[in-house]
Amino acid sequence: MNRPRLVVIGNGMAGVRTLEELLALAPALYDITVFGAEPHPNYNRILLSPVLAGEQGFADIVLNDLEWYRHHGIDLRLGRQVVRIDRARRRVIADDGSEAEYDRLLIATGSSPFILPVPGNELDGVIGYRDIADTQAMLEAARTHRHAVVVGGGLLGLEAANGLARRGMQVTVVHLGEWLLERQLDRTAGELLQQTLQARGLTFRLAAQTEALLDDGQGRVAALRLASGETLPAELVVMAAGIRPNAGLAEAAGLPCARGILVDDTLQTFDPRIYAVGECASHRGVAYGLVAPLYEQARVCANHLARLGHVRYPGSVTATRLKVTGIELFSAGDFSGADGSETITLSDPFEGVYKKLVIKDDVLVGACLYGDTADSAWYLRQLREGQRIGEVRDLLMFGALAPAAAGEVAP
Ligand SMILES: Cc1cc2nc3c(=O)[nH]c(=O)nc-3n(C[C@H](O)[C@H](O)[C@H](O)COP(=O)(O)OP(=O)(O)OC[C@H]3O[C@@H](n4cnc5c(N)ncnc54)[C@H](O)[C@@H]3O)c2cc1C
Repeated sequence: MNRPRLVVIGNGMAGVRTLEELLALAPALYDITVFGAEPHPNYNRILLSPVLAGEQGFADIVLNDLEWYRHHGIDLRLGRQVVRIDRARRRVIADDGSEAEYDRLLIATGSSPFILPVPGNELDGVIGYRDIADTQAMLEAARTHRHAVVVGGGLLGLEAANGLARRGMQVTVVHLGEWLLERQLDRTAGELLQQTLQARGLTFRLAAQTEALLDDGQGRVAALRLASGETLPAELVVMAAGIRPNAGLAEAAGLPCARGILVDDTLQTFDPRIYAVGECASHRGVAYGLVAPLYEQARVCANHLARLGHVRYPGSVTATRLKVTGIELFSAGDFSGADGSETITLSDPFEGVYKKLVIKDDVLVGACLYGDTADSAWYLRQLREGQRIGEVRDLLMFGALAPAAAGEVAP
């Protein structure tokens, strides 16, 4: 009997997670074909940072080896980039001319690093930080060169900088913002983080704008010039200044996109045969850049692909951590303390601990923890559930112990 055909574009974290969920629900429903532009089986992209820092090897971060695809009868086409979706004939065409027809199509193409449009950005030694190939390029540069500049003091940039420093390079982080991780931390926590990283040998240029990359006369980058006129030596420049959803394929196929492929609460695009999950998708105006929301999308999408069709994706409350060994940092929700909110802070400079909790209308709306993140899961649960704080308010700094403590002090 002919089974319907499911084609997946993108062998990354969201696409394959959707397959795992689907195979658990309906193992024999589809004939499945997966196109992956990278020449590797599915791996845990978030663990590239420990690989760069020398804490793990590539084999440790593979999620599904080739045997897994074989076992599930998946036609895996590695090193094949899909270049066109032909919606009229329901087929996709890859860069080698090969094709696959679909009854259902799942687009899970992820994002690409944003490369600053400055002179010299095409030089050798200028890279983004997205995949194994970038990680290998960084490891190679660390073996043969001395100076690196990382553009961007966000999570990705700091993990790249830390890894390169651990590999022996002299690293400067150039950041446009006034403090590090300004989207995740307030100024106080950002400055604490900077001090810790400086003590580990990293150098920073904050509120600094990259103007040009200068070459060594042989096509490789040699330095980075800032708008202030300062020139930083750099035989490696890592651009970690943001990502852009890979929505070009879908857009060219006529699917509506706006900073990502537009999807509804079932992860369906405007074409009912085509779904999109992961960083390439835009749901209620948000294209997520973290794994947890993508896994929630994968569960819902698989449910609909399996024709069960009873769950919806309402969006996610996200939380972030920095994967730099020895640095505890957690941030979730709106920690800015904007109008109408109250802020509770705890600052212990001696222990290097700083905590900020933001409450609005008796509900916890944001948390930023530095130095002690033991209660992060409890705070995240409060944020997600949005329950009233009530009598726990004065004890909120106790985190998971707060409800019990409130019980003890209650009259
Ligand atoms: C170094 C690093 C550290 C990170 N750390 C964290 C972290 O600590 N916590 C966290 O939550 N998130 C982290 N992230 C983000 C997380 O990895 C991403 O959110 C997640 O991988 C996105 O999954 P995705 O499937 O949408 O995209 P990807 O995992 O990027 O998968 C997309 C795949 O599609 C392929 N592809 C693209 N276009 C085509 C095409 N036309 N044809 C065929 N294949 C194509 C790509 O090559 C890629 O393999 C990190 C990311 C990086 C790079």
